[in-house]
Amino acid sequence: QVVLKAYITDGRAPRKDDMAVTVSTLPELKAPKGSGGFLVKNLYLSCDPYMRGRMRPPSPASYIPSFLPSRCQPIEGFGVSEVVDSDNPEFQAGDFIAGMTGWEEYTLIQKPQQLRKISRNHAVPLSYHLGLLGMPGFTAYCGLYELCSPKAGEFVFVSAASGAVGQIVGQLAKLEGCRVVGSAGSATKVEMLTSKMGFDAAFNYKEEADLDAALKRYFPQGIDIYFDNVGGEMLDAALLNMRVKGRIAVCGMVSQHAVTDSGPGIRNISNVIVKRIKMQGFLQSDFLHLYPDIVYVEDVDDGLESAPAALAGLFTGENIGKKVVRVVPP
Ligand code: NDP
Repeated sequence: QVVLKAYITDGRAPRKDDMAVTVSTLPELKAPKGSGGFLVKNLYLSCDPYMRGRMRPPSPASYIPSFLPSRCQPIEGFGVSEVVDSDNPEFQAGDFIAGMTGWEEYTLIQKPQQLRKISRNHAVPLSYHLGLLGMPGFTAYCGLYELCSPKAGEFVFVSAASGAVGQIVGQLAKLEGCRVVGSAGSATKVEMLTSKMGFDAAFNYKEEADLDAALKRYFPQGIDIYFDNVGGEMLDAALLNMRVKGRIAVCGMVSQHAVTDSGPGIRNISNVIVKRIKMQGFLQSDFLHLYPDIVYVEDVDDGLESAPAALAGLFTGENIGKKVVRVVPP
């Protein structure tokens, strides 16, 4: 099991040492009779930035409960699992499911949360149900279409563009006939965006001393749609470069997880008024849609032992594409 050792209280990014891999023994591989639950073997675990928020002490301001630091209670997240024994007529041994599960090899699920059955179609890797066909793909789809209404010829900017959400946003925008530029944190990611994912251009934001100047270079006519995955200084620079009647989907603020105090703040917010920008935050759970079939890059680590480093790596940008942990080969 992967457990959280203690809450992170100083606002920094998570590190692998914040978690520990512990061993406990199940009495038997069975769902207790009369429990209505079912026992699953976890096959893939999803590493998602929102999990950082669950490592904070509980707060009424949070939309999701904090994990419980404990030597014997694993953290939880989205996963793909196989039912091995069931006391619930809706789930049979052998079913594959995607949804909330424990970061452990076996989980007894008593109250199914956000679970859906998936068919074992060998054309689609099971892990894709944590990315392209799961929550991040869903986020890209509803954020782009429901909030931004892309039109052919528009200029679209995506930050954290090579990640689970960003890579899909960019490709959907290309399918709509937009000109798409992405930012990412390494040369490898930047190269992947243009050579593999069809972005028109991409840049490494870590090499840009002046983000406003960088955006002016890539968007001399301004930005119609900014899909914001990072917040902070990039959002501030994008505000300066939006066109009149532009749209900003505020999807995530991964650059802000480590910010505790009020920081420098967003200085350019008045552009929302001057340029009549529509800027809207959203949660993917607000929407239901279908997913198109597009190129998808994921980054898989093997073994539960690798899970803490895999999760921590999201915050130093080590993942290239959607990060998942393969607990055991299916
Ligand atoms: P990614 O797969 O993109 O992984 C995280 C990436 O964030 C890293 O690879 C890194 O890429 C980048 N990053 C890390 N730290 C920073 C930083 N300080 N500044 C800028 N970039 C940083 O994650 P996802 O695609 O799963 O998530 C992307 C965003 O979408 C997150 O903010 C997440 O919270 C949000 N989200 C929101 C949802 C919603 O319902 N609103 C649902 C799902 C996700 P790089 O090397 O390019 O810096």
